[in-house]
Amino acid sequence: MKDDREIVMSGIRPTGFLHLGNYFGAIRNYVKMQDDYNCFFMVADWHSLTTHPDTKQLKSNVHRVLAENIACGLNPDKVALYCQSHVHETAELYLYLNMLAYKGELEKTVTFKDKVRQNPENVNAGLLTYPVLQAADIILHRAKFVPVGKDQEQHLEMARNFVNRFNHRYGEVFPEPQAFNYNQALIKVPSLDNTGKMSKSENQLATLYLADNDATIRKKVMKAVTDSGPVEMNSAKPDYIENIFDLMKLVSSAEVINRFEDEFNNCTIRYGDMKKQLAEDMVNFISPIRNQVEAILQDEKYLLQVMETGAAKAIESAKATMLQVRKAMGLQYY
Ligand code: ADP
Repeated sequence: MKDDREIVMSGIRPTGFLHLGNYFGAIRNYVKMQDDYNCFFMVADWHSLTTHPDTKQLKSNVHRVLAENIACGLNPDKVALYCQSHVHETAELYLYLNMLAYKGELEKTVTFKDKVRQNPENVNAGLLTYPVLQAADIILHRAKFVPVGKDQEQHLEMARNFVNRFNHRYGEVFPEPQAFNYNQALIKVPSLDNTGKMSKSENQLATLYLADNDATIRKKVMKAVTDSGPVEMNSAKPDYIENIFDLMKLVSSAEVINRFEDEFNNCTIRYGDMKKQLAEDMVNFISPIRNQVEAILQDEKYLLQVMETGAAKAIESAKATMLQVRKAMGLQYY
């Protein structure tokens, strides 16, 4: 069936439970985009092998990420929701793009350097070429828009470089993909301890997961770093306080935020009260999603059917692109 809508692609690694950063940086946009774009959303299981070679948890993690995406509002009838490893064409395109990616630029990638620092015993070639595989995932569907968080900006820049090199050498096949977020700058959801971003695998006590129970959410929020409060009217906020306001902006009403802004500005703010309010607003936001995830996970037959239908849509699109790629590269000999 011909679909004239612009193409969107994004993915999430099944390396653990999804968190608020994944929701606000990525999934919220997926859900908004599903009615207006031709969307491909995948569970990036191959990517997870770069840092998580032990596959014992992989199946349950893949099921969970699918269920979490659906519980957040993604409709598998409207989009292609699939598993990366079910689309083998990805590996072929990754191989071709590897010939157009240079060791020096890959070594300079911020996420690569971070991961080397975190895990110096496992600096494998897959980790180095992560941005190449990611570019393959995206351009395999000739996607133009990629809804991702701010941490992915550099990878998108690299994907554009690979696309330009390919198009320049072999002819125009791919559009340049760009990071996408509705109306605003790309989002970074900070961790509660002010040491970086919320993340699936690091910083778990300072990350709010969609699977956290109400007591855990309250406990984590109440532990967020604060101080004894401002002493000068209308002063600048320290970054750990700004983070709490930023988190509030994600889940609280405008009225609540304005009240605490005013109290900050006139130095009457009590951070204990602010965190209690934030904790309740987080509980109200997260608990319906968590309950829905649990219900979906009970129905394995449904999840298998989602994966199968999603893979069929993704493979159809991938095969069409790969025909063009092989032709452009002169890899057709008969
Ligand atoms: P993680 O870093 O938790 O392993 P992934 O690498 O699987 O997450 O990223 C999945 C999506 O979630 C990407 O689009 C990424 O930009 C987004 N994302 C991850 N963490 C955050 C965060 N703290 N704030 C905003 N977006 C985030």
